[in-house]
Amino acid sequence: MGFERREILLILGVFFLMIGLLPFIAPVYSVIVAVVTYFGIHMFVKHRKKQIQKAVGEGVCVVCGARINQNKCPNCDGVKDI
Ligand SMILES: [Zn+2]
Repeated sequence: MGFERREILLILGVFFLMIGLLPFIAPVYSVIVAVVTYFGIHMFVKHRKKQIQKAVGEGVCVVCGARINQNKCPNCDGVKDI
């Protein structure tokens, strides 16, 4: 089982979207919309994960909570150097 709980929820959501679209558009189009939505969300989640990893990768300053950039806090470390 390589399936995550979130994955199942996503598939269910897309499935219900497909069902919901059936009365309005041809079944073929509702399937296409569902598949496109599924992969769209997947790509979005992947992108978000990468962004979050990048953001927390270097950590945050314990003093002010600013993002650490090149092992230095943009707020505190500049002051300390003086
Ligand atoms: Zn700081």
